[in-house]
Amino acid sequence: MKANALKIIAFCCILLMGTGCSEKQLKLENDHLLAVFDISNGSLLKLENKKTKWDVIYRKSLGQSFEMLVPLSWKRYHYIDGTEQSPPMINVSGNKISFTWTSLKSKLLDKPLDITFIGIVELTDNGLRYSGKVINNDSTHTVEYVGWPYWGEVSIPDTTKRFVCESMNQTKELYPSFTNEQGYWGVDYPTQSITLPESAFLTMRNDEQGIIGYSEQVVPKELIVASNELIPGWDCNSMNPTTKEMDGQLVRIPFKVNHFTFTAPQKSQDILPFDLLFYEGTWHKGVDLYKNWRKAVMPQINCNNWMREPYTWRYVTISKSQELVDLAKECKQYGVSVLQVNGWRTPDNQNDVKGIEGLASAIKTCQKMGIKIVLDLQMNTADKHSSWYKNELEKYVIINMYGMPTDAQMLCPLTQGMTDIVENRYAKNSYLQSADGIIINDNNNSGATFFCFSPDHGHAVPEFVQTGTYNLDKDFTGEIKKAKPDIAVLGYGFWDAQTTYYDGYRADGRSDKNRYVNTNTPMITVINERKAREDMNFCLKNRCNICYNFSFIGRELKNYPLIVKYGQEIEALRRKYADFIWNGEYRDVLDATVNGENISYAVYRNKNGRKAMIIINNRTDDVSKVSVSIDGSNKPLVVASPENIEETIYNGNISIDPLSAVIVMEK
Ligand SMILES: [Zn+2]
Repeated sequence: MKANALKIIAFCCILLMGTGCSEKQLKLENDHLLAVFDISNGSLLKLENKKTKWDVIYRKSLGQSFEMLVPLSWKRYHYIDGTEQSPPMINVSGNKISFTWTSLKSKLLDKPLDITFIGIVELTDNGLRYSGKVINNDSTHTVEYVGWPYWGEVSIPDTTKRFVCESMNQTKELYPSFTNEQGYWGVDYPTQSITLPESAFLTMRNDEQGIIGYSEQVVPKELIVASNELIPGWDCNSMNPTTKEMDGQLVRIPFKVNHFTFTAPQKSQDILPFDLLFYEGTWHKGVDLYKNWRKAVMPQINCNNWMREPYTWRYVTISKSQELVDLAKECKQYGVSVLQVNGWRTPDNQNDVKGIEGLASAIKTCQKMGIKIVLDLQMNTADKHSSWYKNELEKYVIINMYGMPTDAQMLCPLTQGMTDIVENRYAKNSYLQSADGIIINDNNNSGATFFCFSPDHGHAVPEFVQTGTYNLDKDFTGEIKKAKPDIAVLGYGFWDAQTTYYDGYRADGRSDKNRYVNTNTPMITVINERKAREDMNFCLKNRCNICYNFSFIGRELKNYPLIVKYGQEIEALRRKYADFIWNGEYRDVLDATVNGENISYAVYRNKNGRKAMIIINNRTDDVSKVSVSIDGSNKPLVVASPENIEETIYNGNISIDPLSAVIVMEK
């Protein structure tokens, strides 16, 4: 941080002329943003991006500070409102303000609770970093979560433009329409939420500017649910009101970052820093801020095994070993090189991880044919009908706050017992070690099992389950690679931070942002045979390995000759121009301009800085004419396509057939 570039804070006593009263405010300010706080209650009264003049918070009456959920024995939804508290103690140090609220009150309580919340806001180059601490000296009540920050509004920067909330894999509209994700019976207002760290980051943006937020955690440590609400509600048909007031209430979209601390009586808990950063430009500028942080804290593994190949995959479920051999033969015939295999375990696994009869020799036969075998694996989920469950696993089931399982299949990864099972039985398992790869599908929150409250598991009560899952999967990966260094271990991309140990992901979410962040991570994407060209073109554009999983007219590849042919052509194109479109850096739409209708494209930069773009015509019925230019380049361009793999000279425009793709490269 360029500390000297920050024109920081000042106490600012503003005399409100004419009213006769004085209002004390506190400012955090630099060249980029201005944040004004009310000294009397710590509320954020004003927040502005000075570069774009976006007044994110501009109505003082909507100022908010924090919120805290402290359930009472007779009412779970009991919250502490920061604006109803006595004036906080304030400490200013450098570019940091610390507010300390003590003896917290609520309308439902006769006397205050002996709970203290220290909320810290720090000015950074581009935004605000929020951190804090909950000190619970109360004798009976637990602090379940603290909402910090709590912004009373996020105004729409330009009401002529769409405004959205996004994460790595999701986009939700905040304006002009506002989608309610929760049931109408569960919330007071239309509400959307993003769960972190599993969603990596959140942005609130239009196409010209935005705010990106993320929690500074690599190993998942703290569950965060960030939310936006629309108050007082919709105008009609999920559309936001266009007036500033409706039914006597100010129309607004509050934003909260709820940190689940579960701070028990007589305990204290730090909340992890949360960054909210302003940026100007397209979403890439915001995501670049996240990428910079990530680069510094999450070293990526250098994947040098067979996962780097542009192989075509196929997902299959088997029940007999011979099926695997038959499927491999068919794959060989149709240019598919990798089989992701489900159903390889015996149904009742007799206290162990056991493959179906003949599996080991079937895998060997497939490998001799040149087909790679990747086994599906889920370690934190038990088969409830197995004897292993009855004999051993049942005692590791995740217990919820009411003392019962939410999902009786989900096993607690925070237990020593599960660690032992993973290290001694899964990682040493001969079936798993015989495969070329393993794809781990340890779900992070199946059945909303975010926390385990079991008093018998030897962990804190409660503890964040994702910490355990992350560590358990990492442990397994390290152990099995010790035994077999060239084995590939993949996941399903539940956390961005798993790229620090996995060789790749099954990624069916079709997210440009995911590819932009994980520019070189191998990603395997299942295509749907009903819209195969569209899906395969997406895979081509975003460098995803194509994975077949046919069922429409049987699963045999011979039933889908056109799809399989296109798959072979794409793989051949990738091999021929690997330098650009397989090993180059994915730039999304940056660094080049493509003019044409109903098209999408991505730019790749090879190691010498030369660029290529993959352009897709998304129309189903008409040719698209496109022209292209690469920013700052006069180099001659050449064109190729899956169907015409040899390069031809680019002569100023290209016609792309419906649902087809071309690549254009600098010579
Ligand atoms: Zn547990």
